[in-house]
Amino acid sequence: MGEQMRKFISTIAGALMMIALSAPLATIAKSAEFFTIGTGGPTGVYFQTGNAICKMMHKFAISADHGRKKGTNKAYRCTAPSTGGSNYNIGQIKEGEFQFGVAQSDWQFHAVNGSSKWEGKKFGNLRAVFSVHNEPFQIWARKKAKVKDFKGLKGKTVNIGNPGSGQRGTMEELMKAMGVDNSYFKGVTELTSSEQVKALCDGKIDAFGYSVGFPNGAMEQAATCGAKALPINLTGGPVQGLIDGADYYAAATIPAGTYTGQKKDVTTFGVKATVVTSADVPEELVYLVTKAVFENFDAFKAQHPAFGPLEKKNMISDGLSAPLHPGAIKYYKEAGLM
Ligand code: GLU
Repeated sequence: MGEQMRKFISTIAGALMMIALSAPLATIAKSAEFFTIGTGGPTGVYFQTGNAICKMMHKFAISADHGRKKGTNKAYRCTAPSTGGSNYNIGQIKEGEFQFGVAQSDWQFHAVNGSSKWEGKKFGNLRAVFSVHNEPFQIWARKKAKVKDFKGLKGKTVNIGNPGSGQRGTMEELMKAMGVDNSYFKGVTELTSSEQVKALCDGKIDAFGYSVGFPNGAMEQAATCGAKALPINLTGGPVQGLIDGADYYAAATIPAGTYTGQKKDVTTFGVKATVVTSADVPEELVYLVTKAVFENFDAFKAQHPAFGPLEKKNMISDGLSAPLHPGAIKYYKEAGLM
């Protein structure tokens, strides 16, 4: 073999060696760091909210090479599974199982202050990121049950929601305010939000209480089978007391025409859906998630009709009682929102 050939072979061998050595590096560059956002039942708005956030995060990661873990080549990747709802999500964040969750403003307040269902289990490290849509508390009753208001639920079969859902917790707070317990009803069920509409339409339950954004496909299904959302009397009544005593509740209206056959505004009380995290979640990740949503705001809002009324300046304060996470503050300051 001539000198030329020997040189050529050693160059090729060197190049092959380089490729072999760089292959594992390329694999690392493509690997991902997963984080989880807890949502709610698959037919609710929380599920859409969590997945909309993930979508923005991934969109941003591709378009702006945003969403990489600092000092590594790892891309952040987000999953938003369906869950039992608000209190379940907050509990999973507390356990370090989820990094984010969607939760009602009332349960954010109770968890960080150790009140109501969170008495003795205070989660002082709970942090707010931003709030999202309004969730009027709705009592839906089937036509044949002939119920006109909360009092009319006496002796009926009522779904109070699965344990862990915000819906269940808020229904119990409403029952307390109205001075009733489960014995007021003929029976109670603990169906999830995605089971309750079919049960109502099939006549297995007479009514359910649910805090959810509107318009909502599952509620439209209930309206289509003849069910209606009942007004909850506020003026001077016990529910007015609930609202007056707490910043996390507000009067709420589902405008006439939102659902099939809905001729009048439905007045009730409501909460805000909020996105929460833990003080233990790194600043960088919370910053990136916040930025992904706020810098792709129109695309985010287009993910669900309940997001239509969202405004950035309200989202950084409305319904938030836990301290804002430093990662969120960093973005709000940078964007001139604070
Ligand atoms: N507010 C409900 C809850 O916390 C969930 C509503 C939804 O899934 O959109 O249980």
